[in-house]
Amino acid sequence: MYRTTTRTAAQPANFKAASALDTKVARSGNGILDRLDPTDLRTLLSRSERVELRSGDTIARPGEDVPFVDFPVGAVVSHFQILKDGKTAEIAMTGREGALGIQAAFRPGVSKEFSEVLVGGEAIRIDAAFLRNAADRMSGCRSAFFDYFNENLDRISRRVICNNYHSVEERLCLWLMLVRDRCGIDSLPFTQEQVSFFLGVHRPSVTLAMQELRKAGVVAYSRGTVHVKEPAAMIERACSCYSSLSVKDLASPGTDGRTNGNGRMPVKVA
Ligand SMILES: [Zn+2]
Repeated sequence: MYRTTTRTAAQPANFKAASALDTKVARSGNGILDRLDPTDLRTLLSRSERVELRSGDTIARPGEDVPFVDFPVGAVVSHFQILKDGKTAEIAMTGREGALGIQAAFRPGVSKEFSEVLVGGEAIRIDAAFLRNAADRMSGCRSAFFDYFNENLDRISRRVICNNYHSVEERLCLWLMLVRDRCGIDSLPFTQEQVSFFLGVHRPSVTLAMQELRKAGVVAYSRGTVHVKEPAAMIERACSCYSSLSVKDLASPGTDGRTNGNGRMPVKVA
């Protein structure tokens, strides 16, 4: 199976199919879906459901089928590879600007990497076969999916350059701001161990960089949480990749699509 049972069982008590909620609205809260014209958007939402992605869940592994595509509206997901010696490298991050498994909207296939939920929140889930049919019938859908697919390739290319040439502190600032942009919250639920895993660097290097940021007053951290205190200063300290990888121009997700990081919903969505 592509998704863990935890994920599919994570629908909150107030879960409703999106078709019962959103078919009359012009926006979904997801960047790809909101590129569509209202008729196409309503068609897709009529066959969708809102699901909750829980922080820490692994939702895809290499070689697993991709039976549906999730369009996050509050959740943030990391995509990474694990080498045989245990080293890791994050290659991409997806939030409300994108989709998980968008390649399945073009043809049936399997996941190429691990995907883990960084920040819990909602996503709009649509059956992959239905999306393929929609892409065949509706040129606007096909263009939106294809544009995002290409944009994502550009972002992955940029991450490769970033991982090779930019300092740990620059990458730490970049990574925290990329997550913050996608979920819209300043208090990010990460330990330094988790940050080092996703940056693919040794924990002591992250600790040193975090200490420098704290001395400068741009972040604070307590057990399991990194607080971004000065976003503008963080962007200044981040590498130049920020302008290529940011999604700051998207509308704020507000609270509708976001959980508190533990999968519990702070507000009702219905
Ligand atoms: Zn960089």
